[in-house]
Amino acid sequence: MSSTLSFEVFPPNTQIGANKLFETLKELQQLQPDFISVTCSNNRQTIAETTLKVADYIHNELKVQTIAHLPAVYLNQAQADELVKQLDKLGIDRILALRGDIIPELPPENDFHYASDLVDYVKKEAPHFHISGACYPEVHPESVSRVADIQNLKKKVSVGCEQLITQLFFDNELFYHFQESCYLADIKVPILAGIMPIVNRNQALRLIKTTQTKLPRKFLAILEKYEHDPTSLKEAGLAYAVDQIIDLSTQDVAGIHLYTMNNAEVAKHIYHNTKNVLHGQIKAG
Ligand code: FAD
Repeated sequence: MSSTLSFEVFPPNTQIGANKLFETLKELQQLQPDFISVTCSNNRQTIAETTLKVADYIHNELKVQTIAHLPAVYLNQAQADELVKQLDKLGIDRILALRGDIIPELPPENDFHYASDLVDYVKKEAPHFHISGACYPEVHPESVSRVADIQNLKKKVSVGCEQLITQLFFDNELFYHFQESCYLADIKVPILAGIMPIVNRNQALRLIKTTQTKLPRKFLAILEKYEHDPTSLKEAGLAYAVDQIIDLSTQDVAGIHLYTMNNAEVAKHIYHNTKNVLHGQIKAG
């Protein structure tokens, strides 16, 4: 069985960043991804100018399937309607419905409290939309328990979420355990594994802080040993991600979703070192 390969990019804040992203996207297109997803910020005013603009370029210029991220708690129904209408007009019918990270200084809207509220709403208003959702092999940090988290995930799927994409993780065993829990809970939609190749130490430290992801001993050893040797750290970080992907693919993961951090070099390295195992191009016999 082959696994899909998709990428995540984020809209930059500056025009220079935007031009660079369009160049990056052209390079990503060459790797023939199954889709490229575009993140959203919690600033509801700019989603059309950021997320939708990048998604439009991917879909209509590069002719690559795209998924636009939308943050439920920072949208009211009218804004959600408007964004769905705009996406429809662009010919884009795939979204990743998220709750969004709640920022203390930015009060949420009141129409949607969880991602599942947005999934439910969009599915009723625009049934032809294909909706993905987020999930957490290490349990969502605010969740009261693993069981509650899986029950909430089941709700999200039961109202129309058709595909799940995981938070990044560095220990495949946690992913397999999570997959099993989903299976036992009768959550049977494809679960794409979110993989982020670590290419520098600051990136690793920032991630551990913001996502509370556990780092296995093998990975911590890399960070420690190559602390002052960025070239080796990058090489080891990429090799670690390749190793993770080969293992996941061997276990027939539905897909790999690469957090590219808008870095085409990283995506190309991963692609060239995993394309045969992912796409099943090496025939037995
Ligand atoms: P939910 O599914 O709503 O879950 C959030 C919490 O609430 C969980 O603890 C869950 O167990 C609980 N819960 C859910 N439903 C209920 C219920 N009915 N009753 C009680 N509790 C409930 N953030 C952005 O701002 N922009 C992005 O572009 C972005 N992209 C992401 C992409 C991926 C693949 C992932 C994994 C995360 C992304 N995030 C993004 C971060 C995400 O917004 C946060 O992790 C957020 O804290 C949770 O979002 P969610 O959609 O998983 O929330």
